[in-house]
Amino acid sequence: MKNDRPGIYIHIPFCLRKCPYCDFVSYPLQRDETDRVHQYICALTKEAALRKRWLEAADLMPEAFHSLYIGGGTPSLLKSSQVSWAIEEIAGSFPLAPGAEVTLEVNPGTSSREELYAWRRLGINRLSIGAQSLNDEFLKKLGRVHTARDVYQTVEWARSAGFSNISFDLMLGLPGQRLEDWQRTVVQAVEELKPQHLSCYELTIEEGTLFGRLKSQGSLNLPPEDEVVAMLEWTREHLTNSGYEHYEISNYALPGFRSRHNQIYWENRWYLGLGAAACSYWAGRRWGNAAGLDEYMQQLDAGSLPEAYSERLDERSQLGETIMLGLRLTEGVSTAELEARFGLSIWDIWEEEITDLQKAGLLEVSGERLRLTQKGLLLANQVQAAFL
Ligand code: SF4
Repeated sequence: MKNDRPGIYIHIPFCLRKCPYCDFVSYPLQRDETDRVHQYICALTKEAALRKRWLEAADLMPEAFHSLYIGGGTPSLLKSSQVSWAIEEIAGSFPLAPGAEVTLEVNPGTSSREELYAWRRLGINRLSIGAQSLNDEFLKKLGRVHTARDVYQTVEWARSAGFSNISFDLMLGLPGQRLEDWQRTVVQAVEELKPQHLSCYELTIEEGTLFGRLKSQGSLNLPPEDEVVAMLEWTREHLTNSGYEHYEISNYALPGFRSRHNQIYWENRWYLGLGAAACSYWAGRRWGNAAGLDEYMQQLDAGSLPEAYSERLDERSQLGETIMLGLRLTEGVSTAELEARFGLSIWDIWEEEITDLQKAGLLEVSGERLRLTQKGLLLANQVQAAFL
């Protein structure tokens, strides 16, 4: 397992302002607040050095990392010189494999043409663009800082800078959104912007957010469940007819453009997360960093790794989680591979649950593979809970 294509995630926890539905760890940042970003990248470099030492001491350093994902927050708020500094420091501690996937999350309206060119020259070879919608009315409702025009502009600049692997995040189930609104955004995205990859997520309402409060007051006007299901079903049909592979519950890719980094999560392989609130899974241990910026930086200043929690998972828990995550992939999981990886029999542990899920039409067993049915893809949480 040690060298099984691990990846690194770097969290950049700054945004221009907080979106009303967001419960990610992100803090408002003005464009000219370079000192805070500088301090944060200094802290990241300290964490990378400490983590490298920890991996080497435990004889757990892999030969190379196969993906680097810079997410947030809004990493595209950083200047290219700051991104360059972070990448050089991280790659200095954790060698990247030749041809590694290097992704930067970009929010439209936060980066210039020159920066896109600079990022490409830095070796970033994939952009994940937080478009969310191509309808200004919905972008406004979502509290986004960009317009549909900004999305088009970002894609145009990215293509001219040489990016040939572009992913879009789009959100469905928005307040006041009808099936036709969603269809228009997806058709426009595919026909006019031609991304290689699309992540189509349903808006989830989290407690503690403004949308959470509006929902509990009954004033959010979310589309009814059957309309959301119609959106999901139409998306699958339209995108697969347009040449995209539906390879994960919410993700679609043209052949050869699946997200290598996200597949690490879905296959429950090892990854390191660096930065405030970043999570890691390595050699059977999972941990998460302190989410508060001050706490994160103070711990590193004191020379300690900024872990806020840590747990060691036994083989059974790791196997259960690997099945749960792997069932998000439309090709499902190979029972033979997982049994070889964890040395446990899936059937001995979950035979009853698997049989019940098959009878309910949610899970299918085909040879040595377990996978969700079309109905199961819509009720994935229910199926996954059986393997906890
Ligand atoms: S841009 Fe993304 S991370 Fe930042 S506040 Fe909005 S949803 Fe959250």
